[in-house]
Amino acid sequence: MSILDSERKNVYWSESPITTVRRDSGILKEAELYFPQNGGKIKCTACARYCQLGEGQIGLCGIRQNIGGKLFLLSYGKLFTGHIDPIEKKPVMHYHPGTKIYSVATSGCNWLCRYCQNYDISQRRKIEGFDIEPKEVPKLALAQGCQGIAYTYNEPTIFIEFAKDIGIEAHRKGLFNIFVSNGFATPDTVKMMTQFLDCITVDFKGSGESSFVRKYIGIPSADPIFETLFEIRKKTKIHLEITDLIVPQVGDSLEAAKKLSKWVYDNLGPEMPIHFLRFHPDYKMIDFPSTPVKTLEAHHRIAKEAGLMYAYLGNVPGHPLEHTYCPECNKIVVRRYGFEINGWYLDRKNDCMQCGAHVSIEGGLASSVSDERYLPAYF
Ligand code: SF4
Repeated sequence: MSILDSERKNVYWSESPITTVRRDSGILKEAELYFPQNGGKIKCTACARYCQLGEGQIGLCGIRQNIGGKLFLLSYGKLFTGHIDPIEKKPVMHYHPGTKIYSVATSGCNWLCRYCQNYDISQRRKIEGFDIEPKEVPKLALAQGCQGIAYTYNEPTIFIEFAKDIGIEAHRKGLFNIFVSNGFATPDTVKMMTQFLDCITVDFKGSGESSFVRKYIGIPSADPIFETLFEIRKKTKIHLEITDLIVPQVGDSLEAAKKLSKWVYDNLGPEMPIHFLRFHPDYKMIDFPSTPVKTLEAHHRIAKEAGLMYAYLGNVPGHPLEHTYCPECNKIVVRRYGFEINGWYLDRKNDCMQCGAHVSIEGGLASSVSDERYLPAYF
């Protein structure tokens, strides 16, 4: 065991009580994923940046601060937003299709994406939002007729202790939990996910190509994402899907796409769903065009050639590659338009009605599929 492991073990697995103090409004709660270093510094292990923070310093995400030699999660008990979404918007296509998901976020993020569509939330470095106890969130989800809670819009691993407390209560109430994550996590975060997480969609951008992620995201490399995926696959039963945002001109390399598809096939298997998402100009990349559909189709082709059975295009409503096709007879088994499902051709075991081949979707079609599934949620 390395010194780092023993230090971490002493803190992470200690029985010492977690500190909570009051702030002006709401709770200020001690984080769990960190360990102390010499000279009053601490090292945060909630994401692969591993910020080392001196007294009073706040991590790059803007929500974790060293106060008196302890790390505090400043956004604990503070949600910035809530919304009801179809699960397909995450995007998640192979886990409880047709469900309604209560989507929540805090402020802050560990990435600095220049194209972020949620930059008002993610790049905000001020702790703002509604005060709410974790146990109240599942009640709100149930009151809205949702079957699950998604931690989304900003990176959820940075507030994972808050998500865990909501998520454990959500399980008690029969709800499932989904992370929409950039995957820039650590073995500690994956370990904590096992306590409450049922499903995760991990979003690559520009296929994780190094020069793109350095310039447009502000991370040195995508390596920690691959390590996180490997860790999730090896050590958990969490349902996993992959997305890849294809950014025209700067994040659309077909070579990188080949490498990513091969890695997914070799390490996560041929049944791993992969979604190629269309970029829309936003935030600091307003001068870029939307991704040409032909470029997305080329990425889709590469995934299929690599042997991936379930590849999709996202943000292109009406495109035939939104549907799920039977891997045997190639007939449509789930017909979609945008985030809606308008045809279901699977039997009760999720076998193709045409040829009987099994399609790896967890859960049947939810009755809420025909409900209104886009609604603002009020606290
Ligand atoms: S979660 Fe925040 S404080 Fe912790 S390592 Fe990541 S960016 Fe730094």
